[in-house]
Amino acid sequence: MLNAYLEKELSELQDKGLKRVLRDAGGFQGPLLHVEGRELLNLCSNNYLGLASDSRLGHAAVECIKKEGFGSGASRLVCGNMSAHRALEKKLAKFKGSESCIVFSTGYMANVGIISSLFGRDDVIFCDKLNHASILDGIVLSQAKMKRYPHCDMDALEKMLKEEKGGKKRAIITDSVFSMDGDFAPLDKIVELAQEHQCIVMIDEAHALGVMGKKGKGLAEHFGVEKDIDIQMGTLSKAAGSFGAYCCGSKLLISYLINKARSFIYTTGMPASTAAASMRAIEIIERDEETRKKLLDNARYMRAQINLIGFDTLRSQTPIIPIMVKDSQKAVEFSNRLFEAGIYVSAIRPPTVPANTARLRLTVMATHAKKQLDFALDKLQIIGKDLCLI
Ligand SMILES: *Cc1c(COP(=O)(O)O)cnc(C)c1O
Repeated sequence: MLNAYLEKELSELQDKGLKRVLRDAGGFQGPLLHVEGRELLNLCSNNYLGLASDSRLGHAAVECIKKEGFGSGASRLVCGNMSAHRALEKKLAKFKGSESCIVFSTGYMANVGIISSLFGRDDVIFCDKLNHASILDGIVLSQAKMKRYPHCDMDALEKMLKEEKGGKKRAIITDSVFSMDGDFAPLDKIVELAQEHQCIVMIDEAHALGVMGKKGKGLAEHFGVEKDIDIQMGTLSKAAGSFGAYCCGSKLLISYLINKARSFIYTTGMPASTAAASMRAIEIIERDEETRKKLLDNARYMRAQINLIGFDTLRSQTPIIPIMVKDSQKAVEFSNRLFEAGIYVSAIRPPTVPANTARLRLTVMATHAKKQLDFALDKLQIIGKDLCLI
């Protein structure tokens, strides 16, 4: 019975061009990547600053393993709270200018744990339609009433806030940089509306930490609204090149989460060495404005050239550059053709993005050389024409 069900579901996905498979990558995560025996130009990782394969992170992890071993033995509330965890949290709080910080094992777990512990049946959450799946899952688990507003549409949000006056607690939750569109939430306006309509504000800086803001602290820094945001969540798995996630906020908030967030309580502490590598990454991000500038220069160049070729890149303003295809099958074909030509960019399809908005999600790294980007542009143009996309 189970097999019949699974086969039916999978063949339905296959027919719609939505079936996903894993590809094996090996070697270092860099501008070039070994995939299935070939060396490809990597244009789809979130390793924006190249830190995932930076020897300084590896070194920090190894040094920590020598002192603290590998596993953390238990959940942090039992006996798994190692010195590397505390050091990382202190560092992050200081870097973000927050009172306090708590680290989760992954961004997914952070969002689910923060949202489901803070909100319940009597609360209302206003949520951007394109928010990350982990935010959505957190809201569903919380059982709060969810009001989704069209992507970054502040007029629609304002109307919703006026119409929906209920909610013991009210919150606006948004990605800061949107993971599939590469545009950003108007945090200045969101903060203003939140104050007017008594809402808590939570942002997810997964793709903004290390990328946006003068010091790389994220989009809240870019807009200068850090003090007006109650809950600043972000991940250590993207530009920071490591693994894990943080929540920065008041001492009260962090103390509450330590007591109530189930994805923090009922799970083993992350390996101390991972925390040590993350800590090193934050130190690097803090000091290295040069690499961030290189990243943004590469992104600006690539986006402008892709637009010149004739592709629609939506409202992208970051190293995440969507190349709109719309049809899922065609997006997969585009990605496969690029793969054959030596370029690794994955096709993003529903349900990761809304129906009929399949795309290539191209991401630029600080460590890409201009000639690598030019090579990709050349292939994008040739194959795009071949597929009648431009
Ligand atoms: C990647 C991502 C997450 C999940 O983070 P992980 O550490 O990979 O679990 C959460 N939110 C957003 C917006 C993301 O892009």
